[in-house]
Amino acid sequence: MQLNRSSLFYALLFAASFFGVNSAHAFKTVIIDPGHGGRDLGASDSYVYEKHINLDVSRRLERALQEAGFKTVMTRTRDEFLALSERSSKANRYRNAVFVSVHFNSAYRTAALGIETFYRTSDGEKFARLVQNELIKNIGATDRGIKTANFSVLRHTKHPSILVEGGFISNKGERSAMLDPQYRQVVADSIARGILQYNRKTF
Ligand SMILES: [Zn+2]
Repeated sequence: MQLNRSSLFYALLFAASFFGVNSAHAFKTVIIDPGHGGRDLGASDSYVYEKHINLDVSRRLERALQEAGFKTVMTRTRDEFLALSERSSKANRYRNAVFVSVHFNSAYRTAALGIETFYRTSDGEKFARLVQNELIKNIGATDRGIKTANFSVLRHTKHPSILVEGGFISNKGERSAMLDPQYRQVVADSIARGILQYNRKTF
């Protein structure tokens, strides 16, 4: 076959669609895990509870991902206690999925601040980097980087998995930022953008 300019163009177009550029999603489902819940409050300070912030950001993330055409699964949709093993077993019922656990941080040293994303596998590392980059770019928070961790939800979930820590409840400035719905929306939208990028790079 002789390649003229237009057949080369169509070959490139075919390759682009085959490799997932502007085509169907590489994974269809995003499992969103709002950390803590019920009697497990997570971090708390000055009547701000991590479990509530996690659920609110997760709901916003769910909406953003559905608008982008993903199927979403929430490990919890209300303020209820859920064991760590229940979170990963729920996640493992799905195929062709990724997993994101949503948390906010706390430290004894109240000056500690910033955003960090945890992963456990090499797939998780790529995923974490893309999400972390979007969070830092859009929020302008201190970049604590991506880190490995042996958290139960990362260890027992079979999908590419990350755990996002979207700021410190123990830090006065970050705590007041996360009380603003607009801040929580930017956190959710940034995670969604990172997921979209990871989707384009996975095939
Ligand atoms: Zn937490």
